[in-house]
Amino acid sequence: MSRHYSTNRPPLQPQALTPLPLGSVKPRGWLLDQCRVQGSGLTGHIEEFWPDLGPKNMWLGGDSEGWERGPYYLDGLVPLAHMLADARLKQMAARWLESILRMQDASGWLGPVQAPYFRPYDHWPVTIALKVLTQHYEATADARVIDVMNRFCTYLQNTLAERPLFDWAQYRWADLVLSIHWLYNRTGAAWLLDVAAKVARQGFDWHSHFENFPCTEKTTLDSCTLATHVVNNAMAVKSGGVWWRQSGAEADRRSVYHTIETLDRYHGQVTGVFSGDEHLAGRDPSQGTELCAVVEYMYSLEELLAILGDPVFGDRLERIAYNALPAACTPDMWAHQYDQQVNQVLCSVAPRQWTTNSDTSNIYGLEPNYGCCTANFHQGWPKLVKSLWMATADDGLAAVAYGPCSVTARVGDGTEVTIIEDTGYPFREEVCFTVATPAPVQFPLLLRIPGWTPAALVQVGAQEPQPANAGSFQAINRVWTDGDGVRVRLPMPITLERRYRNSMAVVRGPLVFALKMGEEFRLMTGQPPQADWEVRPTTPWNYGLPLAPTFATRSAPIGSVPFAPAAAPIILHTRARRIPTWRMAQNSAGPLPVSPVATSDSDEDIELVPYGCTNLRIAEFPVTEQRTA
Ligand SMILES: [Zn+2]
Repeated sequence: MSRHYSTNRPPLQPQALTPLPLGSVKPRGWLLDQCRVQGSGLTGHIEEFWPDLGPKNMWLGGDSEGWERGPYYLDGLVPLAHMLADARLKQMAARWLESILRMQDASGWLGPVQAPYFRPYDHWPVTIALKVLTQHYEATADARVIDVMNRFCTYLQNTLAERPLFDWAQYRWADLVLSIHWLYNRTGAAWLLDVAAKVARQGFDWHSHFENFPCTEKTTLDSCTLATHVVNNAMAVKSGGVWWRQSGAEADRRSVYHTIETLDRYHGQVTGVFSGDEHLAGRDPSQGTELCAVVEYMYSLEELLAILGDPVFGDRLERIAYNALPAACTPDMWAHQYDQQVNQVLCSVAPRQWTTNSDTSNIYGLEPNYGCCTANFHQGWPKLVKSLWMATADDGLAAVAYGPCSVTARVGDGTEVTIIEDTGYPFREEVCFTVATPAPVQFPLLLRIPGWTPAALVQVGAQEPQPANAGSFQAINRVWTDGDGVRVRLPMPITLERRYRNSMAVVRGPLVFALKMGEEFRLMTGQPPQADWEVRPTTPWNYGLPLAPTFATRSAPIGSVPFAPAAAPIILHTRARRIPTWRMAQNSAGPLPVSPVATSDSDEDIELVPYGCTNLRIAEFPVTEQRTA
């Protein structure tokens, strides 16, 4: 159990790793650029023009939108402001936090009693607000947070019997339990575990749902429920792990793996997320995935990494964070999609094969389809940065996911060290760590070796590089002195994944590669940079890859806007053939032909770039079969 950081108190199960307080990890290099892009994009300006987050929001004491949008926004704004140490962003967050911390009523209820169009006393928006307050506390030690959370938990204790969880809160109960456990770990008040148990009992039984999974096909209009909802599923991925902390039941722990496997099997996409537009939609790469599901799946994996300490969750987190997340936003992060498609060849206002979503769902804009993602996507990058490092049970540090950053934390005997992590990962194969410490200190440094790398090498100082096992944590336990370095090499061979209808996807390390297409951004409304855009293809898309493609790899500098089509830091050149019978249908790439596909067209050179750099693309390719004359 970590001696330096708040972790689970008995009887909660000890967790494998302890999340570090907000502010411990700071972005550097391209990740700093990305966070700055976000801060000077929508996150830093949305309050100026989106009425839902303007001064009339009920969470600010106004009389409009008072449901999830304010707390959603803060769930990303607060961590971004602290990791950038940005005074303007902190000031923006403080205005909301002051209002929230002062609006609790005598019963302990926190926030607006009833938001327009919603039922009164809805636990769901408060659940998000509590997550925000825990982050605020970790960064500032604002003692009011503990008091406010205690009073809200007292409210729950007194009222859950007559005002049980309903609707969204019932399906998202694990997020409420997380905050109750957070408070218990700081106060040790045993009654809080009773409250957590009541919440879990009233919550939807995801465990049984996945044991007997009824959603094995694309959801039909008459079978949509809150259990088929893509965001609820992304949040539910962590529920078995969260509840295991209190139940200690092996079945709860195991259910996490079963949940992920089940969603992959029936709805998995190459980006690591599953489809949902906005209900589970099968494995067809022309179906959509809602942006809220992307960031919520990431958050679920970040929690699971801490709870269970399995490096496999780090692999999945990177697959989603470095592909699905950047793809759903314009490179400048001023506009986003509601639904992204893995095979996405036209973004326009038009009917598509979604189950429930509207015609605007795949354009890049301020509020395509519905405003939940507009408010919620802000948490993606900041929470990834926060979670790159965690404390180990024996007072060391673990690099659970990679990206350029620095971490400052107490280790070993309590010495505060800083580790600088320099890397072009995920575009490059090498990660370098440099330890800064005021005095020599012994502690274990754990490095996640991804499951996909065949021959990882770890080199401490000038010693011989040592091989490390894929899919494990490599521990280096020694006395560290100021300036000590570790160099990790994670070879990223190109691998070919066979997917829906025997199609093929090209993967290199954490990155999925996609066809680079000509993209024409057409202004629909607004004034750039705050605008809505259609994206139209200017080059063909209906390519297939041969069974054994060969690739020439070219690296380019990592620019200050890393995820842009023209700035791809790594490019694969290969040969492909058009498949003339594969055409548009329902304004999307038509049904993927079952591979292998016969084609008489001739070879052409194509470029593949990281999926996250694209706005239009093909990423699940048919496999071509050369027709013999
Ligand atoms: Zn959403």
